[in-house]
Amino acid sequence: MEKIEHIGIAVKNISEANKTYEALLGSAPYKSEKVESEGVETSFFRCGESKIELLEATDPDSPIAKFIEKRGEGIHHIAFAVTDIWAEMERLKNEGFTLLSEKPKKGADNKLVAFVHPKSANGVLVELCQEIENK
Ligand code: ZN
Repeated sequence: MEKIEHIGIAVKNISEANKTYEALLGSAPYKSEKVESEGVETSFFRCGESKIELLEATDPDSPIAKFIEKRGEGIHHIAFAVTDIWAEMERLKNEGFTLLSEKPKKGADNKLVAFVHPKSANGVLVELCQEIENK
């Protein structure tokens, strides 16, 4: 793991939350993106070398909708930057962590992503993310 790449925050209303985080961080989101496969709308803020990702469910069955239903708004995951996501997934599997998928998938912000089950990490959903090389 290289560094904390971003912290994901589940919100009910992303346009309202964008205003709140713009006021909090003193800068506007640099990117907004819908991730159809995850049923979410996201926006990203920079804060130094880390980022904040806001996530609103666009589908009532999405993991974000279920998270908010159960626990309310708040910190949803911590994402770590990795250079070789396959190797890191293998390493964590060998360490006994439960991964949510066998393979990485395309996430928001031009990343390959994979998740570690919160039960494996003291209640924290951990995301691994690797920048996709632009051709
Ligand atoms: Zn994320």
